[in-house]
Amino acid sequence: MRPAAFHGVFTQQEPIDEAAIAAAVAVLRSGRLHRYNVLPGEVSEAASLERDFAAWQGSRYCLACASGGQAMQLALRAYGLVAGAPVLTNAFTLAPVPGAIVAAGGRPVYVESTADLVIDLDDLARKAAESGARLLLLSHMRGHLVDMDALDKVLERCGLTLIEDCAHTMGALWNGRKSGSFGLAACFSAQTYKHINAGEGGLLVSDDAGLMARAIVSSGSYMLYDRHGAAPDMAAFGAARMESPNLSARMDNLRAAILRPQLATLDGNIERWNARYAAVATELERMPAIRIPARPASERFVGSSIQFLIPGITPTAARRFLAANAELGVELKWFGDPEPRGYTSSHLSWRFVDPQVLPATDRILAGLFDMRIPLTFSIGDCTQIGRIIAHCANELEAVPMAR
Ligand SMILES: *Cc1c(COP(=O)(O)O)cnc(C)c1O
Repeated sequence: MRPAAFHGVFTQQEPIDEAAIAAAVAVLRSGRLHRYNVLPGEVSEAASLERDFAAWQGSRYCLACASGGQAMQLALRAYGLVAGAPVLTNAFTLAPVPGAIVAAGGRPVYVESTADLVIDLDDLARKAAESGARLLLLSHMRGHLVDMDALDKVLERCGLTLIEDCAHTMGALWNGRKSGSFGLAACFSAQTYKHINAGEGGLLVSDDAGLMARAIVSSGSYMLYDRHGAAPDMAAFGAARMESPNLSARMDNLRAAILRPQLATLDGNIERWNARYAAVATELERMPAIRIPARPASERFVGSSIQFLIPGITPTAARRFLAANAELGVELKWFGDPEPRGYTSSHLSWRFVDPQVLPATDRILAGLFDMRIPLTFSIGDCTQIGRIIAHCANELEAVPMAR
């Protein structure tokens, strides 16, 4: 039986709550929107956000900046990336990740993905040896955490430094430890479709004083780096203050004001996302054709989106599956599409990077579907969506598929 169509909007986030609106209005009334525009003794909203986020994340230092992509660029430059140096990263990620590597002067070296959508650690070791790379920019793409203990061993064995891209893992844990606390630095996004929403925004965290001093100056602090909320001692800025290029990637007080109250509701929202994820997943799990990536017990993930595989699906069947879902109001993305659409693209269309051969990742992407789970959807909505997807997958059974 054909299920009733769903009428929700997949791009509709919840409104900004009243506390954040009040804080934003106060900044607007003050006229002091630039983060260094403070009265004597005043601590700016941007500096306060840095202090609050560092405390929330459990990191020593934090820099608020313009976007998650800028946080990655700042981290790569502050690490001291040399022009042309290879940087390992997941082949399955979002375009701003290789984009940040290229912008910082590096050369992305893609690592294969497993069917559980995490970096393939054997391929990581292989590519590290082949390329001579010293740095891994690890994207916890769509919130899937690789076995961080096993990763640690590979990093050590291969002499790799880790920078984490936590755009989808703000609030996620591995064995109780926060994602973003495993490497030299970690980058978060406050873009509308991530876990806190200021429209745009980024947060860089690290416990390394030298790296953070260089990142702060590079973010465009001029000589005002003492007006930061979670910065290293002024002594750490000795060389950085004149040697770090100014990239003008600051966050402003308006965005910071909108973000600060959201930290208080983040943990509650993670529970709400995960309840919605579970409602969709429960329906999909009934379908033998559908495979949901395993979520290990050590991982506390944030179900702000869901991914599933239909292994062996042909491009024709995938297009029909997408269309059938769309007809019933369910907006899916397909990573196997040779044509990039909207936010969804694959390494095959990132022509600013040297082309690389990734058969395992390509095989996975060919059958990989993705869906946002906005908090404006109820649990009932998510059950309905799951049933629609299951129904459309069931219709596919009639299509010959090489499983
Ligand atoms: C969104 C995203 C980014 C970049 O964040 P912006 O704030 O949009 O620059 C980086 N990595 C991943 C995996 C993302 O999803």
